[in-house]
Amino acid sequence: MKSAPFEYHRPESLGEALDLLARHGDEAKALAGGQSLVPLLAMRLAQPAVLVDLQRLSELRGVRREEGLRIGAMTRQSELERRDDLPGVVEQALPHVGHFQIRNRGTVGGSLAHMDPAAEWPALALLLDAEMTLASRRGTRLVPAEDFVIGPLTTCLEPDELLVEVHIPAAGGRSGFAEVERRSGDFALVGAACHNQAIAVFATGARPQRLAEAERFLARGGRAGPELTAIAEREIEATADIHAPAAYRKKVGAQLVNRVVEQAWS
Ligand SMILES: Cc1cc2nc3c(=O)[nH]c(=O)nc-3n(C[C@H](O)[C@H](O)[C@H](O)COP(=O)(O)OP(=O)(O)OC[C@H]3O[C@@H](n4cnc5c(N)ncnc54)[C@H](O)[C@@H]3O)c2cc1C
Repeated sequence: MKSAPFEYHRPESLGEALDLLARHGDEAKALAGGQSLVPLLAMRLAQPAVLVDLQRLSELRGVRREEGLRIGAMTRQSELERRDDLPGVVEQALPHVGHFQIRNRGTVGGSLAHMDPAAEWPALALLLDAEMTLASRRGTRLVPAEDFVIGPLTTCLEPDELLVEVHIPAAGGRSGFAEVERRSGDFALVGAACHNQAIAVFATGARPQRLAEAERFLARGGRAGPELTAIAEREIEATADIHAPAAYRKKVGAQLVNRVVEQAWS
């Protein structure tokens, strides 16, 4: 199948891109690495009248060290993989984001904005208390990951807004990451990540989830073991789909939580 016809724009600046989005509203879609959007276009599951290609917006590309890491939305996953100053859990998660070819085109901003519940970046953002900078012609706003990530393919982005930057506050310390995937490079069936005393699971339900009770257990000095596994299993809000039943996701998710905490404290 071929995509439905659309008007194509390749703005040279953020201002020009925001003008286009302001003018075309929900008729328009931003195009980043195209790794999720292009297949949707080809299958006609998305039929925007206007595509705004962000490739030339160099101001959205690259990483700055300023009170932690500030990652431009158009930074490709493969550019990050070459750095040696990432939080440990990001370093551990990146090789699981599809295959190298996908990471070589796909962007951090695209992955967050697309909000696949099985994707690694929304879970990392939630785990690391990241903050998103969103821009439109109406102004700029800062949104914590908790409010950015809403549900499957849904974020708080308005049609005229772009995600421009992700801020990860200073994030050294202990980390663990694990996911179950059918084949290397597939989306996760279930995943878990740990950063110090923060724990998140993903691919378990409609959006990634922080496990508050399990985190309180760690804060009280609890560590990996049957008690943590039981708390996590109770707490994970799992849903079923064609890939796995909810009970599987709860059980395996709890085991992965135990594993990532073990990794972090080993
Ligand atoms: C075979 C395959 C396997 C994959 N496996 C995984 C995996 O295991 N884990 C994983 O996380 N991902 C996986 N992906 C998805 C991949 O990581 C995508 O690159 C990513 O989800 C989207 O990034 P992109 O830059 O390609 O965005 P695009 O596809 O260009 O855009 C995706 C969506 O985000 C919007 N968007 C993009 N950038 C912005 C912005 N700056 N502001 C506002 N909206 C924006 C677009 O309008 C579109 O709706 C896989 C993809 C494929 C094809």
